[in-house]
Amino acid sequence: MGAIILDGNRIAGEIRAEVAAEVKAMTSAGMRPGLAVVLVGHNPASEVYVRGKTKACEEVGIYSEKHTPAESATTEELLTLIADLNRRDQIDGILVQLPLPPQVDSKKVLLAVDPAKDVDGFHPMNVGFLSTQRPGLVPCTPAGIMEILRRSKIPVAGQEAVVAGRSDIVGKPTAMLLINANATVTVCHSKTRDLPGVCRRADILVAAIGRAGMVTREYVKPGATVIDVGMNQVTERAEFERLFAGNPKREEAFRTKGSTLAGDVHPAVAEVAGAITPVPGGVGPLTIAMLMANTVRAAKLRRGVPELSRA
Ligand code: NAP
Repeated sequence: MGAIILDGNRIAGEIRAEVAAEVKAMTSAGMRPGLAVVLVGHNPASEVYVRGKTKACEEVGIYSEKHTPAESATTEELLTLIADLNRRDQIDGILVQLPLPPQVDSKKVLLAVDPAKDVDGFHPMNVGFLSTQRPGLVPCTPAGIMEILRRSKIPVAGQEAVVAGRSDIVGKPTAMLLINANATVTVCHSKTRDLPGVCRRADILVAAIGRAGMVTREYVKPGATVIDVGMNQVTERAEFERLFAGNPKREEAFRTKGSTLAGDVHPAVAEVAGAITPVPGGVGPLTIAMLMANTVRAAKLRRGVPELSRA
């Protein structure tokens, strides 16, 4: 029997509707949440992401503004901009779109964001809050993964969870959230011995590696829940064939566009997993939905408004 498909678009839609209702109530009370996005230079992928984020703000009623310093911007110039955004009461969330140009000290810029407005949850203070289970802002993709599990009623407490990938953005915060939710967690990386064997222990397997279709059937215990975070552009025919041979929809997209988006999980895993997130349409939509939720959360935490717990 094939796996249940965990529909990220549907879950993200639920969260956006909840966020829109909260934004409406806050706006009526004169506290419209606001997000400032800083996009330095002209990275085409970053421009697409930022467009998606500002459009999502419009849809849920969050005030948004975009700052676009030139590619040649210095660390000092960006620090001045961040200081200004930190000071402004209208701005609840500050998002610095990465990567920043090489002349900029990215860590210094991210550290300058007021932790109370750090809607990406990357500031060491928020990282510390997460690891000590204090209220704070949690990185969007990991928070989205937990929403998928919770809203799909997949048990976490007491389960074996394996997170493949240990980045500060995805792997580590996901592992921390799973620990906080009482899973027994193993974190894997490029030096892990017998990766398939370790992954096969998982009741919940999170793949955040950045390698198209690397997680094959032999990595997955039958019936496990598989969360595929990977977003990889496949452009080579041989790789396409390894992943999508015999899939007419993908074939057509690949022929017209010359590329297709693949997760870290091989599509054949859907034949052994109990539940699986698709790519596209799985974790991706949650990331933006959680950015919206984080902006409202930041606005409430900063203003001392009690929070609704999510459904
Ligand atoms: P990253 O910073 O490149 O981290 C990748 C992790 O995978 C590292 O910990 C690395 O190990 C590990 N890894 C790489 N090759 C491996 C291998 N052969 N065996 C075992 N482990 C291996 O990537 P990231 O930012 O976490 O992103 C991971 C993926 O998620 C990417 O495809 C990215 O595009 C995607 N992503 C998606 C969303 C979304 O919204 N859906 C958001 C963020 C990221 P080492 O630490 O040992 O190098």
